[in-house]
Amino acid sequence: MTGHVSIVGLGPGGPEHTTPAASNALAAATDLVGYGPYLERVPARPQQTKHPSDNRVEIERARTALEFARAGRQVAIVSSGDAGVFAMAATVFEAIEQDPQAFSAIDVTVVPGVTAMVAAAARLGAPLGHDFCAISLSDNLKPWDVIVERLKAAAGAGFVIALYNPTSKARPRQLNEALEILRGILPGETQVAFATAVSRPEEKIVLSTLADADPGCADMRTLVMIGTEATRQLTMSDGTSWIYTPRRAETSL
Ligand code: SAH
Repeated sequence: MTGHVSIVGLGPGGPEHTTPAASNALAAATDLVGYGPYLERVPARPQQTKHPSDNRVEIERARTALEFARAGRQVAIVSSGDAGVFAMAATVFEAIEQDPQAFSAIDVTVVPGVTAMVAAAARLGAPLGHDFCAISLSDNLKPWDVIVERLKAAAGAGFVIALYNPTSKARPRQLNEALEILRGILPGETQVAFATAVSRPEEKIVLSTLADADPGCADMRTLVMIGTEATRQLTMSDGTSWIYTPRRAETSL
C-alpha cells in the first residue's frame, strides 16, 4: 500500500484557527510527526501514533515522515501557522529532492494554515491592506548580511514588513539592530506593533512607533509588524486602537 504525507499548518495557536481541512487531514493520519509542543496541540486519537521531535532537527523529521509514508503509513507532519511559511513544507520537498529514489513516488498534500502574519494583522486591524512582505530575522538558515539588505530594500520600497522570528535566547540583539536599520530609512512615527502569542491565552498586543519601539516587547512568540508611512492608528469611541494601511497608495512609494 502506498503511503501518504499531509503537510499540515495548525494555525497560530487557538483551536478555532485550525481549518476544517487541517483537522480532517490530522484525523485521517495513522502517524503524526512534528515538533513536540505542536503535536501536543493535536487532539489525541486512538490508533494514532505521535512522533514528537526536537525543534532543530527539521530535515531528519521530514525524512522520518517520508519513511513512514514509504512503509505505507498515512502521515501528517505538522507546523504551527502555515506549514509553507518558514516551516516544514519546504523541508519535506528538500528531503524528497535529496533522495528521489526513495521518496519521489510518495503521495504528498499540503494543507494551508493561518499564518502568524495574518492572525496578528486581524488582531491589529488591517496593517496588510497594501503591499507587504515577510522577513524572518533568524540567521540560523541565512547570513545576517542578507537579512540587513532585505530589511533595507523592503523599507525603501514602501512595503509593510512582517518580522517572523524576531528574537530568541540565542539571538538577543538582532531585533534591536533591525529596528536601528529601519530607523535610518523610515520616519520615527512609523507604526510598529508587537503581537505576541496571538490566539493563545497569553496573547499580548503592544502598539508603538519606530522611534519608541522597545525590542524587549518581543519574544520568540512575537510577530513584529512594521508599517509604512501610510500606516496609521485609528481610535474608536471606546478608546480601542486599530492600525491599518489604506489600500490606495498616496505617494510614489
Ligand atoms: N509557520 C509559522 C511560522 C514559523 S516561524 C506560521 O506560518 O506562522 C516562528 C515565528 O512565527 C515566531 O518566532 C513568531 O514570529 C511567529 N509566530 C508563530 N506563532 C505566533 C503567534 N501565535 N503569535 C505571534 N507570532 C507567532
